[in-house]
Amino acid sequence: MQNKMWLSSPHMCGREEGYVKDAFDTNWIAPLGPHVNGFEQGLSARMLEHPVAALSSGTAALHLALILLGVERDDVVICQSFTFSASANPIVYQGAVPYFVDSEADTWNMDPDLLEEAISRLVTVGKRPKAVVVVHLYGMPAKMDRITEICERYQVPVVEDAAEALGSSLHEKPCGTFGRFGVLSFNGNKIITTSGGGALVCPDDAFAERARFLATQARDTAPHYQHSVIGYNYRMSNVCAAIGRGQLEVLDQRVEQRRKNFAYYQETLSDLPGISFLSETAGSFSNRWLTCMTIDPDHSGGVTRESVRLALETQQIESRPLWKPMHLQPVFANAPAMSTGVSERLFNTGLCLPSGSNLTSEDLSRVVEHIRKNWK
Ligand SMILES: *Cc1c(COP(=O)(O)O)cnc(C)c1O
Repeated sequence: MQNKMWLSSPHMCGREEGYVKDAFDTNWIAPLGPHVNGFEQGLSARMLEHPVAALSSGTAALHLALILLGVERDDVVICQSFTFSASANPIVYQGAVPYFVDSEADTWNMDPDLLEEAISRLVTVGKRPKAVVVVHLYGMPAKMDRITEICERYQVPVVEDAAEALGSSLHEKPCGTFGRFGVLSFNGNKIITTSGGGALVCPDDAFAERARFLATQARDTAPHYQHSVIGYNYRMSNVCAAIGRGQLEVLDQRVEQRRKNFAYYQETLSDLPGISFLSETAGSFSNRWLTCMTIDPDHSGGVTRESVRLALETQQIESRPLWKPMHLQPVFANAPAMSTGVSERLFNTGLCLPSGSNLTSEDLSRVVEHIRKNWK
């Protein structure tokens, strides 16, 4: 029996253990400690020196971003519909209303024209959105130049969900630095991992301090425990940060490897009728976190993304449909949305292929072989 081939599994470089051992040797196992600071500084160096707060997850980072922007009950927050539910859930944690906006075909991310229409409609009815959550899905940069221009014009702050896009950039500016706040994730399947964790990229030190304060139970300065606002237990631990420091040292290699995976799949599969891949637009650089392809059933001679997925599954190869858009999720059935059918079509025809930076060339050629068989 072959070992299972995963979509994206953790890939340690070996240096993580040295940092973790140091945490043990100094008995700095408690949250906070020198590795948290070191990891934050390392991230900050990748984020144009924006201050960064290391947190327990990307979801926690999104939640704190909304809190720091003052999102409250019954506020409206615009959110990209084509994403993982963690982009939208924190809006509901705040008692606010998510308003979903569909994607454009060329980046798969938020359609700027549709965004402008949504904001303008909301402003007309006196419901100026409190924030816009835009996502760089699968590592592909959204059209941040247009999106930030529109949001500045309407004075709506942008939260940039770069959970899948560490190492991606647009016109050489790193993803995570375009919005008022940027969100990173180090979950086990992301491009680098701390086993679980996230970070909030902040506009200045005051916001980063506030984020760290809220993430550590919001203790006022006093010898006893005193609280004036509601706090959270959202800080990253020193042990997780130790893993992150080792991982950050090899981020560029991880990006290179994932981009090679993409190039290989594109090269060896593009001739199959009905298959297409997502291209980078002018000035954009994707970390190619996951390689995704679409299969157009009208041109594939009956092959569908589901038939390919099931065929791979019999070979112990994990693949997965693209994200199911939020406006089609049962839990958000009552949420307002502006949809064009773009993300729904992507969901129906798209498949994510094994994309880990630890896959061997034999692994990759085995995936291709079993995909190609569907066309014979
Ligand atoms: C993974 C992910 C998150 C959440 O990050 P966690 O660290 O798992 O909480 C948020 N948004 C997107 C788009 C993600 O892929």
